[in-house]
Amino acid sequence: MNSRRCIFFLIATLFFAVIFAGCGGGQGQETPAAQTSSEQSQTTSASTTQSGQSQTTSSSSTASTSASTSTSASTSTSTSTSSEQPSGSEANSEQDKPLERGMAVFTFDDGLNSVFTIAKGVLNQYGFVGTFFVPCGYIDGNDGLHITWDQARSLSQSGWEVGNHTVNHIDLTTLSDGDAINEIQQCGDELQSYGLRYFGAFDPPFGSFNYGVVMDAIKAGCTSLRQAWVETVNYNIPGNIDPWAVNVVPVKRDTPFSSVQSAIDDAAANKRLIVFIFHDIIDAPVGQIADPDAITKDKLEQIAQYVHDKGLAVVNITAGIEKCLYYKTLPK
Ligand SMILES: [Zn+2]
Repeated sequence: MNSRRCIFFLIATLFFAVIFAGCGGGQGQETPAAQTSSEQSQTTSASTTQSGQSQTTSSSSTASTSASTSTSASTSTSTSTSSEQPSGSEANSEQDKPLERGMAVFTFDDGLNSVFTIAKGVLNQYGFVGTFFVPCGYIDGNDGLHITWDQARSLSQSGWEVGNHTVNHIDLTTLSDGDAINEIQQCGDELQSYGLRYFGAFDPPFGSFNYGVVMDAIKAGCTSLRQAWVETVNYNIPGNIDPWAVNVVPVKRDTPFSSVQSAIDDAAANKRLIVFIFHDIIDAPVGQIADPDAITKDKLEQIAQYVHDKGLAVVNITAGIEKCLYYKTLPK
């Protein structure tokens, strides 16, 4: 009797094991875009960041994100099976889906004074808000260059989002994982302790990041990573956005307005998300601006006016990313 029961038990176990394995593989594959678990994000980011810093065009960005699925199969061990499953056609149809309208995000790096004294007023004329990334250790440093916590609070209260730019603005790829996590975690904690609108948006100093930095940011509670200094215009494709390598359009002193204009035109026509990066904004003629990363107040006004004229929705970075990530589930 015992051996019969044992055999029956073995057969039953095998049966359920086969059923379970079949279900498990399918579930892992069926909810790619709506899924924002760290596991899904990590797979995407791991592969994207390997090619991430060298992303150059919007088409290659799209390709690299979808290509990342196959790349990750060779680099990621735990999720390689599901990565290899044929989701290409589904992904392609998703990335072709537009938003209801094009969207723009104005981001300002480094918590410089001008985000409060100039940018806020300019965007406010159009009813726009922005996102400012602050290195927390520089705030209230009485250096005359950076905003104060009171100003940060004021921006936040008027609808701006604050993002994490670490404590000391150090290249995180040069730190140990522990130190990098501390840099990010402490800044996030401080932003929250001041009651600011912080949703885990992260901007690695100098735009410098790799797979390890993405993992550190995730461990430090971040929800996205905005790239920097990608010279060629890149767009974020709904359904195919990589929240751990958000594409950007940096605007610097010598960036021609025509290239910004064409980026806005594209975002409007194809209903995509465009994320601008600004640094210092200076109320002076361009000839008097020494900092190549700064732009004139006039240029910011020109861009805001054009975004307004083209009818883009201006949102904060986390809202913009979420809109793209959750597009599938939104009503039309
Ligand atoms: Zn910076």
